[in-house]
Amino acid sequence: MLGSLAETLMRQLAREPVTPLEVVVLIVSDDRAVVEADLAAGRLSCPRCRSGVLGGWGCSRLREVRTSVGVRRLRPRRGRCRERSCRATHVLLPDVCLAGRRYVAEVIGAALFSAGRVGYRRAGERLGLPGETVRDWRRRFRSRSELIVAHFLWWARALDGSFDPPAGRGSLIADAMEAIGVCTRVASLVLGRRSPWSWVSALTAGGLLEINTRTPWPVPE
Ligand SMILES: [Zn+2]
Repeated sequence: MLGSLAETLMRQLAREPVTPLEVVVLIVSDDRAVVEADLAAGRLSCPRCRSGVLGGWGCSRLREVRTSVGVRRLRPRRGRCRERSCRATHVLLPDVCLAGRRYVAEVIGAALFSAGRVGYRRAGERLGLPGETVRDWRRRFRSRSELIVAHFLWWARALDGSFDPPAGRGSLIADAMEAIGVCTRVASLVLGRRSPWSWVSALTAGGLLEINTRTPWPVPE
C-alpha cells in the first residue's frame, strides 16, 4: 500500500510540500509488486511538479548494495511523470537504500548507532566493512546532526501533536540518534510499522548523508 512513504506522509498530513527544482530519487517500498501496483494505479505522485503521477519508465542501472549478510543486486524501477509540462524521470529507490550509498541503510545505521561507544575501526570490523567508511559516515552524520535533530523532531511533532521532544543528551550525534529514534517510533505508530532505517530513508528522500543534496528532504509544512 505504501508506494512512496514520504508521499503517503504528505497526503496524510494534507500539506502542500515544497517543490524541489530537481528530484532524481523517490523512495518507495522494497516490494516490487507494491511498486508496480502503485505505478499502475497512479498512486505515485511526481516529486518534482507534485501535480503529475508517475508511470513506469523502464529500470535504472543495476547496482549492488551490501547488506549484513552479503551483496544484494538491485535494478530499481524508474518512473516518468505523465504531466506533459514536466515529464521528469525518477529512480524509484527501495526504502532499504540511501541514495548513492553502496551499503543498505540498516548497515549504515548500525555504524552510526555505535558512535561514541565503539571506535570506527572496530565498528568496521564488526560490520565487515572498512573502518574508513564508518569514519566517513560518522563525519557526515555529525556535520548534519543539528539539521537531523530539527528535521526529525519536526516530523515527530507533525505526526503527533502531543509529542514531547526529548531532553538533549549533550552530544550532537547522540541527540541526532535520539531524534531519529523517537520520530521513527511515532511514524510506525501513526502510519504503520516499518523499520527505523526505512523511515529514515523515506523522510530524507534517501539523502541522510548527502552534503550537497539535490533532493531536498521532505518537510511536513
Ligand atoms: Zn512531474
